[in-house]
Amino acid sequence: MPGPALRRGRMQGMNAPHETEVLETGAGMAGLGAPHVVVVPTDPLPDPYWVAWNAALAQALGLPAQPDQGWLRRLSGHGAESPWCSAYAGHQFGVWAGPLGDGRAHTLGLLTLAGQPQEIQLKGAGRTPFSRMGDGRAVLRSSIREYLASEALAGLGIPTTRALAVTGSALPVQRETLETAAIVTRVAPSFIRFGHFEHFAHHGHHDALQRLTDHVIARFYPECAQAPVPAQALLAAVAQRTAHLMARWQAVGFCHGVMNTDNMSILGLTLDYGPFGFMDGFDFHHVCNHSDSHGRYAYDQQPRIGWWNCAALGSALMPLIGDEDAVREALDGYAPAFQAALADAFRAKLGLAVPMEDDYRLASGLLTLLHESHADYTGFFRALCGLRRDAPESDGPLRDRLLERDAFDRWARDYRARLAAEHSRDEERAQAMRRVNPKYVLRNYLAELAIRDARDGRFDTLEMLARVLAAPFDEHPGQEAWAGEPPDWAGTLSVSCSS
Ligand code: AMP
Ligand code: MG
Repeated sequence: MPGPALRRGRMQGMNAPHETEVLETGAGMAGLGAPHVVVVPTDPLPDPYWVAWNAALAQALGLPAQPDQGWLRRLSGHGAESPWCSAYAGHQFGVWAGPLGDGRAHTLGLLTLAGQPQEIQLKGAGRTPFSRMGDGRAVLRSSIREYLASEALAGLGIPTTRALAVTGSALPVQRETLETAAIVTRVAPSFIRFGHFEHFAHHGHHDALQRLTDHVIARFYPECAQAPVPAQALLAAVAQRTAHLMARWQAVGFCHGVMNTDNMSILGLTLDYGPFGFMDGFDFHHVCNHSDSHGRYAYDQQPRIGWWNCAALGSALMPLIGDEDAVREALDGYAPAFQAALADAFRAKLGLAVPMEDDYRLASGLLTLLHESHADYTGFFRALCGLRRDAPESDGPLRDRLLERDAFDRWARDYRARLAAEHSRDEERAQAMRRVNPKYVLRNYLAELAIRDARDGRFDTLEMLARVLAAPFDEHPGQEAWAGEPPDWAGTLSVSCSS
């Protein structure tokens, strides 16, 4: 069944003509129509208030830097013309979970960012046919975390969905404790997940699978249309993007926490921020999600799980590819792409301009030292930017971050020899390293500070934190405390799937 005709959207009940004309409804994935998407009314937040507005992103989308009441209501689910939800399924924690779908996400329409159409999606605007036992809501806490994390990853240059706004309401929402409702407005070229493909493959709806694949190729992977087997080319391209994303996460110490196939973007974007975490103390086996009791999604497992998820996408595309060897061949590109991207990322983190034989050993040797000392990951690499090649006696502050000082001295001797081998110059190297080793990441305790203030009706911490994280490589004089390790009270913070 064809989708609704593409048209300029008019949002009902709004009074600012400029703003009401910009959202294009019926386009994007909505164009696929049933069974991929269904139009579902929103259940708006009562008496909404502003929590956050991303002025820079808003302006890039052609929206005002200062939003009016109309946008407050619209982004709280009021007056939506034909909001839609999509059907997907997925593997959760390695097990087939059956039908899932947008249980609390409504897409309002499209806006344009740098010439590219972007879907504008509300998360938490009420129940949908896919809500199952859920209430269709999101809480203030998780909405702030998603807002900050999206913009933190964007600031780091890592592919991600974006966040335009958070609105809140006094509406009570039951999680482990009673909390209040909020909606985060997300922005992405598409929110299509691996799970969308799995859904139609599982039900044997091969026509729907083909239409979804054609849609994704036509919009986002046009080069695949020319390949002898377009679905195979798509799988190979998605495996490449996913491999790159995993390398980028590993390099900044980002743990997603719930890498289920329904949370994997077909565009290789970081998607669905829940119990994620940036590592403070480095630990290969760090698990950020307290619900992940077996550590399936531990830091050092993410690259392997990225591959596993691509393999699940491969099985879903099997009916279109038609040959297991061809699926395997498409997936074969994942490991080399990941390894190359990871090697590049760590070479850059170490300030090495020229690739050499032993770089892997040098990087992994340092990670082992950090792991043994549980040293602060972000802080250590940022401090390493200032290392003086010919002055080991100035290493004090760096080696004091580790328990095994002698082991650090041995590593630093190798590192210095390596730097000398490419005639590395301190000032140049420091500058280059400070462009890839952030000073600021979204540590859990920082998100918690913003959440606590927001609960008290104060949003300046959130605003300032968002501003710092948008430019995480800059020094931000006066904000240095936010580059610091977690305070004692943060030791008890626990992050679960509840959101
Ligand atoms: P998540 O764990 O957030 O990735 O969500 C997994 C599935 O559960 C998706 O289909 C979500 O739409 C759905 N879901 C999660 N929380 C809720 C909720 N509060 N209400 C309705 N559906 C939800
Ligand atoms: Mg999800």
